[in-house]
Amino acid sequence: MTDQNASHRTERPSVGVHFKCCNVYSKIYVNHSGTVYAGHCPRCAALLEIPIVNEGGSSSQFFSGS
Ligand SMILES: [Zn+2]
Repeated sequence: MTDQNASHRTERPSVGVHFKCCNVYSKIYVNHSGTVYAGHCPRCAALLEIPIVNEGGSSSQFFSGS
């Protein structure tokens, strides 16, 4: 992946998360630099960030936020 010109549209990776603060499920998306998944709780707007670690895991990870 050598994307010097990232002007084309690509679907951003996302993960489903459980926001424990409000007991709701939502999706959050990878950030610009591709280092973390970041998103806000749909109810209370709490920020959740999940570092992306390369463990050769699947793309269908499921996280639980606090
Ligand atoms: Zn919340």
